[in-house]
Amino acid sequence: MSAVWLRASALVVLALFGSTALGKDKQPTAIVVGGGLAGLTAAVELQDKGWQVTVLEAKPSIGGRSGLAASEWVGSAKLQPTLHAYLERFKLKALPAPEYVRTPGYLIDGRYQSQAELGKSSPSTAEALARFDKSLDDLAASVEDPLNPLTSHTLKSLDAMTAARWLDKLALPPTARALVDQRIRSRYDEPSRLSLLYLAQQARVYRGLPDSEMRAARLPGGSQALAQALGKQLKLVKTNAWVSAIVQEQDKVTVKVGATGYSADYVVLAVPLPALGKINLTPSLTALQNKALKDINYGWRDQMLLKFKKPVWGKARLSGEIFSDKGLGVLWVEPALKGGANLLINLSGDNARLMSAFGDRQMVDQVLIRFDTFYPGAREQFQGYELRRYGKDALVGGAYLAYGPGEISQYWRLWEKPLGRVLFAGEHTDALYPGTLEGALRSGQRAAGQAVDLFAGKSLEPAKPAAKAVAADKDEAKGGKPGFFSKLFD
Ligand SMILES: Cc1cc2nc3c(=O)[nH]c(=O)nc-3n(C[C@H](O)[C@H](O)[C@H](O)COP(=O)(O)OP(=O)(O)OC[C@H]3O[C@@H](n4cnc5c(N)ncnc54)[C@H](O)[C@@H]3O)c2cc1C
Repeated sequence: MSAVWLRASALVVLALFGSTALGKDKQPTAIVVGGGLAGLTAAVELQDKGWQVTVLEAKPSIGGRSGLAASEWVGSAKLQPTLHAYLERFKLKALPAPEYVRTPGYLIDGRYQSQAELGKSSPSTAEALARFDKSLDDLAASVEDPLNPLTSHTLKSLDAMTAARWLDKLALPPTARALVDQRIRSRYDEPSRLSLLYLAQQARVYRGLPDSEMRAARLPGGSQALAQALGKQLKLVKTNAWVSAIVQEQDKVTVKVGATGYSADYVVLAVPLPALGKINLTPSLTALQNKALKDINYGWRDQMLLKFKKPVWGKARLSGEIFSDKGLGVLWVEPALKGGANLLINLSGDNARLMSAFGDRQMVDQVLIRFDTFYPGAREQFQGYELRRYGKDALVGGAYLAYGPGEISQYWRLWEKPLGRVLFAGEHTDALYPGTLEGALRSGQRAAGQAVDLFAGKSLEPAKPAAKAVAADKDEAKGGKPGFFSKLFD
């Protein structure tokens, strides 16, 4: 063997070994597009694992849809385990809610009534609400696995049907129907726009957990406080950075903000679907993803904080989850740090859509006029407002995902699959808890885990069901009675 050949071979081995070693030692990099709770979670999880992460957020501040509330209601640790794990990590203390706000309240013809009071003043309405709860529970029981809601032809048929059609068949008396409509529209969207299977699947996720677990505590500073705590962990967050394009190449992906390009090994795309539709992707989304972008229904929910000189609602409880028969719901009293009395009102579904043509002040006036009829003098005591109109915000485009009829059958868990080096996160990508803080956080964790697996050369498995989410036992899940579905479909 000649000395020249030996030296050349040694160089090749060195070069090969060197590049492998370099690849192994190279710090993996990620760009997270969107500084809402999902993006921030993905970024923190990746950074914890030694990744170099850059968060790009279009707005001047992080936090996304984490809202207007100065003291937000959160569910119990049983209901929102991921949220509570982060609250614990960042030593954010949620204050237990008093018992009286854990049960829903009703504002009927402007008169506040607790559940117990309603039972006395209008037994027929209370009975009809209980009948609705029981029917929804029967529907939920028919979904054996909420991660797999399409296991039978019958369940697929539920997806083709709207929640409104099912409610029509229940034939609730008018006040009860108005209250049920309000509950569905403020949690998801207008019943006429909602897949019945989605309503059933969501009821299945929370089955066995009493409603009182939903408003178990208040978080001072709201979910914004969590967003800030997550943000503080991160080394590189760029705000006012609207991402217009993402270009994937064989060994990297480049994200465009104006004329600047940021490159990394992976991108976590944590923006709501309407905002995703405005980003130019190369290669483009799949045909199904593009169709989903146009189709998938988002609920509509605007939030307004009305500031009064004093609590014009007197001693009425107005706190917790209050549904009104006149479309004002959910509402609750907020701490007024600068004095006075603050009331947070959510306008949901078509009630909010109808007002989308109004200017901010006009919209507030519409609500004030109604509120003044319930609590005379409210307009005189009114001294200001803050407003979040998520449906009109181009960086959101709605409140949150709320599957419309036929959409689960087409798009179930579509956004959990990566597109090359791009991973999707955001509440809309979580199969169990869409439209919630829990869903946003879980999706960030899932996307970070996927990036780590891809970087390690592993193939991706679909996410496993969270143990707590499928808590109800199998016998319960099979609890659909004979004739239940035939009655439903007549
Ligand atoms: C009115 C209302 C009430 C709610 N109430 C509750 C509740 O009581 N309990 C509960 O658990 N959940 C509630 N939620 C849901 C919860 O707030 C959301 O699920 C969660 O905040 C969504 O987080 P996200 O990170 O998925 O999305 P977002 O918070 O929307 O974050 C996405 C981010 O991406 C940014 N972005 C968009 N496009 C681009 C771009 N091209 N380039 C860069 N950045 C971009 C946006 O500015 C935004 O900051 C409520 C939501 C609303 C709207």
